[in-house]
Amino acid sequence: MKYQPVPDYHMHTPRCNHAVGEVREYAEMAIQRGLKEIGMSDHSPMPNGFDAAWRMDAAELPDYLQEVEDVRDALAGQLIVRVGLEADFHPGTEDVVQVMIDGYAWDYVMGSVHYIGDWAFDNPDEEGRWEAVNVEDAYCDYFDLVARSAATGMFDIIGHPDLIKKFGQRPPAGSKRVDRAESLMLEAVKASETVLEISSAGLRKPVAEIYPHMRIVEKAAAMGIPFCFGSDAHAPNEVGYGMDACLDILQSCGVDEVVAFEKRQRRMIAIREVT
Ligand code: ZN
Ligand code: FE
Ligand code: FE
Ligand code: ZN
Repeated sequence: MKYQPVPDYHMHTPRCNHAVGEVREYAEMAIQRGLKEIGMSDHSPMPNGFDAAWRMDAAELPDYLQEVEDVRDALAGQLIVRVGLEADFHPGTEDVVQVMIDGYAWDYVMGSVHYIGDWAFDNPDEEGRWEAVNVEDAYCDYFDLVARSAATGMFDIIGHPDLIKKFGQRPPAGSKRVDRAESLMLEAVKASETVLEISSAGLRKPVAEIYPHMRIVEKAAAMGIPFCFGSDAHAPNEVGYGMDACLDILQSCGVDEVVAFEKRQRRMIAIREVT
């Protein structure tokens, strides 16, 4: 490790049907890798069976909370374990999602855009639909949804802020429309005082790049938008993955601290090299 580990706030459980490992195993891996703090953020339930195969059922939420709380309490003094959630922003579901957010004392709620209309654009099963879309439109639609997610004020963190690039489709170089959509997204993040996640997950996907692109980190840093780190671990051995590479990008853009959360309150943690 080049840097002292910072909190990793993005990891899943098998309840979402596409992750493996118990919370205890994620936590033990974090301790083994020298992390002091993690947060679980499994895919939240959504109303009306929306994409039910890729998320926990509402009936599983109490069990999720219990498992995370039990590990948190058992490891007190060794590792700080935060209770979070990765909620979807999908227009029309805000009221139900807000009730879920209000129903528990979360340490943080991450808002993620995984859908453009009925298209789960980051789902490998729906990758074929890329062939039928205009890539520039898809990027603009995506950043517009992220902007709207921030503007709701419902979320503490914007998850993987340019997930749209996951499979490697790129808009035309120098697209003014995409640049504008990106900037409007960041303005909404800034206005809503939301935190951007820098995520190593993209390194493990076809795009092979950190979310968000360094250009977006630079713009956000210049606007004073804060960041937190997430590995988006879907297996215990992914905890803390790519942290140094993410912190390198933050440092090169002049960001020298990351956000930590407790009961939706923030404190800043300095990014420090291991001496
Ligand atoms: Zn997932
Ligand atoms: Fe996600
Ligand atoms: Fe995730
Ligand atoms: Zn995710």
